Amino acid sequence: MKITFHGAARTVTGSQHLLEVNGKRILLDCGLFQGKRKEAFELNRQGFSAGETIDALVLSHAHIDHSGNIPCLVKNGFRGDIVSTSASRDLCAVMLMDSAYLQEKDVEYVNRRRARNGQKPFELLYTKDDVAVAMNQFTGISYNRPHQLFPGVVVTLIDAGHMLGSAHVLLDLDDREKNRKIRLIFSGDIGRPGIPIIRDPVAPVEGCEVLIMESTYGNRLHPPYPESEKELQRIVNETIERGGSLLIPAFAVGRTQQIVYALHKLVIDGAIPEVPIYVDSPLATRTTEIFRLHPEVYDAEIRAFIYNNGHANPFGFDNMHYTQSVEESKALNELKRPAVIVSASGMMEGGRILHHLKSRIGDARNTILVTGWQAPNTLGRKIVEGATEVKIFGEIYQVEARVEVMTGFSGHADRDGLLAWAGAMRKKPARTFVVHGEEEVALEFAATLERQLGFAGVRVPALHESVEI
Ligand SMILES: [Zn+2]
Repeated sequence: MKITFHGAARTVTGSQHLLEVNGKRILLDCGLFQGKRKEAFELNRQGFSAGETIDALVLSHAHIDHSGNIPCLVKNGFRGDIVSTSASRDLCAVMLMDSAYLQEKDVEYVNRRRARNGQKPFELLYTKDDVAVAMNQFTGISYNRPHQLFPGVVVTLIDAGHMLGSAHVLLDLDDREKNRKIRLIFSGDIGRPGIPIIRDPVAPVEGCEVLIMESTYGNRLHPPYPESEKELQRIVNETIERGGSLLIPAFAVGRTQQIVYALHKLVIDGAIPEVPIYVDSPLATRTTEIFRLHPEVYDAEIRAFIYNNGHANPFGFDNMHYTQSVEESKALNELKRPAVIVSASGMMEGGRILHHLKSRIGDARNTILVTGWQAPNTLGRKIVEGATEVKIFGEIYQVEARVEVMTGFSGHADRDGLLAWAGAMRKKPARTFVVHGEEEVALEFAATLERQLGFAGVRVPALHESVEI
């Protein structure tokens, strides 16, 4: 059997690994590369031009850097099953449509400029129609229910505790070529114990022969979650005391719901004043509906919260507003009194957050609170790294607003969390591939696995590298 690492290899985005076994070609994730527009576009387009050569796809979770290239694969001839949890399937229906919509807008804008310069137009990666076709290929399965993908290939999804519907992928393979039974585990993104709303990750105790493991925060430690709620409280209060507004760029799925829930608890406790809170992201609004559809994945804390507060909606309360129309969104720019605005995209590369940044980044009373990992070359990364001026929609703006960075809301395990997850395996894997981390982080974490857990045969594969197992 053979594994080829077609994405998230020495980088974080574009998760895509191809497993070839018993004459079948099985793709693990099919994510979008994110980063500098042109580079990302080329990488995404190169993707899988021969979709018909792929027999099945197993999706770890719905985040776009894991799922966002699925419609492209389908457009290029892929007709097999896409196996994921039911919650991931539902989230993909909304998120992939949004991704198609954003690309249409983006390509339209870029092509206008290319036309002016006499360049050939960029082709769309995929359209909403391609998304509709792709959705028909999904097969939603539940956690811990083994599912035969092909004879001799059984997939089991277990809770990864990273976002709604996220899974670790266990593949039990009957490798006919070498006449052996072998278990492969693809970690997907590994969540954190103790973060609210979703359950804790389940470490696969039985262990495996081959492990493909993420390393996003493989050299960092997060503060414990309860401290993050206190930090959020401090930041809200300090901003409001200055008469400013708090801007929180956040991924529409997962992070937004976590922040909304944390704010809701702070309001109930009287820990922050009752300022208006806006969730200005149509995608966040739609995905919040999906969260409400899947109470089966809630953890005990949020279930208790709902019952103890008279069946309250954890994601909605009196001064919480979900904006819908562009007009409502633009009206927020005129808002004169302090407010909290949660908006996407999380890396500030597009979406409504850009309008809010434009009107608020130049005022020292305001705060920009960054809560997620920022890809190199994104506007978010520049702001986190302390840029004093930034370009938004082609214009230069001075960064006068206070910038706060918190990793405590991260849905990713930190170094110790990753080690605890891998260390729970009774049997050490014979081969481990460290993926989904920036190059130096992945290399450092690979060395940590060898040193601290005694793993042997740990490798950080390069992009498109193939390994015979
Ligand atoms: Zn993820």
